[in-house]
Amino acid sequence: LSKKSTVKPKPRFLRVNTLKTTSGSVIEVLKKTHKVVKDDIVPDMLVLPPGTDLHKHPLVTDGKVFLQGKASCMVAVALSPKPGWKVIDACAAPGNKTVHLAALMNGEGSIIACELNKERAKTLQHTVRKSGANNIETVNGDFLEIDSNDPSYAEVRAILLDPSCSGSGISTERLDHLLPSHSTDDQDDAGSTARIRKLSAFQRKVLSHALSFPSVERLVYSTCSIHQAENEDVVSSVLPLATSLGFELATPFPQWGRRGLPVFDGAEHLLRTDPEDDLEGFFIALFVRKAAADDASE
Ligand code: SAM
Repeated sequence: LSKKSTVKPKPRFLRVNTLKTTSGSVIEVLKKTHKVVKDDIVPDMLVLPPGTDLHKHPLVTDGKVFLQGKASCMVAVALSPKPGWKVIDACAAPGNKTVHLAALMNGEGSIIACELNKERAKTLQHTVRKSGANNIETVNGDFLEIDSNDPSYAEVRAILLDPSCSGSGISTERLDHLLPSHSTDDQDDAGSTARIRKLSAFQRKVLSHALSFPSVERLVYSTCSIHQAENEDVVSSVLPLATSLGFELATPFPQWGRRGLPVFDGAEHLLRTDPEDDLEGFFIALFVRKAAADDASE
């Protein structure tokens, strides 16, 4: 068998928008026409056979269900903001994770969803409207220009940071995960190596900024990249700063087997997903402030 044969069709994942309905009600509707089961680790995630097309289904057009992948949904669950908290989604459009956060918070508390790009900010607003969430304030601006010492952000307790990345974990055509090394920089052409370096520098800057908010207890850094330069290297480069501010790495989804590449002490806390797990290539790092570490790895 060639290695290529390990790329199999992915199941269709659905996230139930609990701001509008329940998993039980959605299952009742879908089971009439589809084989549907609950996901084993992500709450309110349903799994249907590969190729199931629900784009025009009323559950989707009404915003009761979002066609969101499992790996993407693991990001907001890793952050697990409590209902009532004040939260920032720093790089928010198109807003799938923003509205997932709102659902996890039962619509209680507040979310500031920041998006730099004007057109994408409109998409974000559309996603928010569709979700029915009424605790999300969208801001079309640069997260890096939000002053973390401004008293209006003094009570922010959680930040989701899902910044621009190479997207190398997403392409359905990609075969690079089959290469022997995860660090593919040496196989890239000069242009894409330079692009990754630039992205990585931006990611370090924006993650350092997120760490500077004074009351943050939980911070998730995520990408849909498979490149070490955008993932483990970014986290390890901010660790001295994070540690000096009282943060430590915690272990999101401890039952999940695929962890960070073992390139520094602590990388075992990081989480990777991969097409071999029927998913897409995401990366999640969870920072918790020491004072709140007790409930960090639920
Ligand atoms: N979290 C989103 C979701 O799940 O729907 C996807 C976010 S996407 C990977 C990254 C977004 O960050 C892009 O829309 C990009 O325009 C935005 N962005 C990039 N730099 C930014 C900045 N400095 N401030 C705010 N948003 C930024």
